[in-house]
Amino acid sequence: MTLFPDMVRGVLSESIIGRAQSGGLIEVFCHNIRDFTLDKHRKTDDTPYGGGVGMVMTCQPIYDCYANLKKEIPEENRTRVIYMSPKGRIFNHEIAKELSEYDNLIFLCGHYEGVDQRVLDEIVDEEISIGDYVVTGGEIPACIVIDAVSRLIDGVLASSECYEGESVASGILEYPQYTKPREFRGREVPEILLSGDHKKIDRWRLEEAVKITRERRPDLLDAHPEIEESLLPKEKKRKRNPKNCLE
Ligand code: SAH
Repeated sequence: MTLFPDMVRGVLSESIIGRAQSGGLIEVFCHNIRDFTLDKHRKTDDTPYGGGVGMVMTCQPIYDCYANLKKEIPEENRTRVIYMSPKGRIFNHEIAKELSEYDNLIFLCGHYEGVDQRVLDEIVDEEISIGDYVVTGGEIPACIVIDAVSRLIDGVLASSECYEGESVASGILEYPQYTKPREFRGREVPEILLSGDHKKIDRWRLEEAVKITRERRPDLLDAHPEIEESLLPKEKKRKRNPKNCLE
C-alpha cells in the first residue's frame, strides 16, 4: 500500500526478484492508496493536530485500501501487516526468515511526516525499520524487505546453499569472492582457490570469514563461538558455495 506504486514496481520487476515474479514463485501487487480516497480533491494527507511541520497521511484511504485487498486474501492464509517505520524492529536476517513463513505480507509505506496513529493501531501487526536513519518514504524500505524475504523462498535462488553460507545468514560475514581473470592490475587470485583441493579451500574460506568478522563485526563472532571453535583441529567444516548460485 503506497502513494507511489511505480517506485516499488520498477525496483521489483528487475533481475532475480523480477524473474521470481514471472516464474510465479512470488507475487507482488502494488495498491495505490490514493485510489481509495473519498476526498473530493483526492487528498490523502492533512496537517497534524497539535501543530508542527509537514503533512500526515490520513486514516480513511489507507483503511479502505487495506480492507479492499484483505478481501482478496483467503481467510486461512497466514497474513502479516507491516508498517515500514523508523520506530520499528530493526530488520535483519532472522526477521526475513520469520516473514518468509507467511503466505501474505502487506506492507504499508508511509510518506511525508508519517501516518495517523489510529489507522496503524487498527490494521498493523508490526513496524519494521531498515536502520537508524530516516528516508523519505516507506517504498524503498519495503522493497528491501521484500527482496530479502523473497530470496529465502524456495526456487528464487538456485539453491538454499546460495544464501546459507552468505554474510550474516551463516552467522558471520562471508569470505572474499574472486572470479576471472586470475590477475587484475597485478593482483592475483589467492593460489589456494586454484588448487582444486576443496577441503583446503573450505578451511581457507572459513579462516578468512572469521578474520573479516573479527575485524568488522566481533559481535557476530561472540554470538557464535562455535564457528571459531570449528577452526580448532578435528572440527567440522563449512559447506562449499555451489557453482550454480545466481550471485
Ligand atoms: N516523522 C517520522 C518519519 C517519517 S519519514 C518519524 O520521525 O518517525 C516518512 C516515511 O518513510 C515513514 O512513514 C516510513 O514509512 C518511511 N521510513 C522512513 N525511515 C524509515 C526507516 N528507517 N525504516 C523504514 N521506513 C522508514
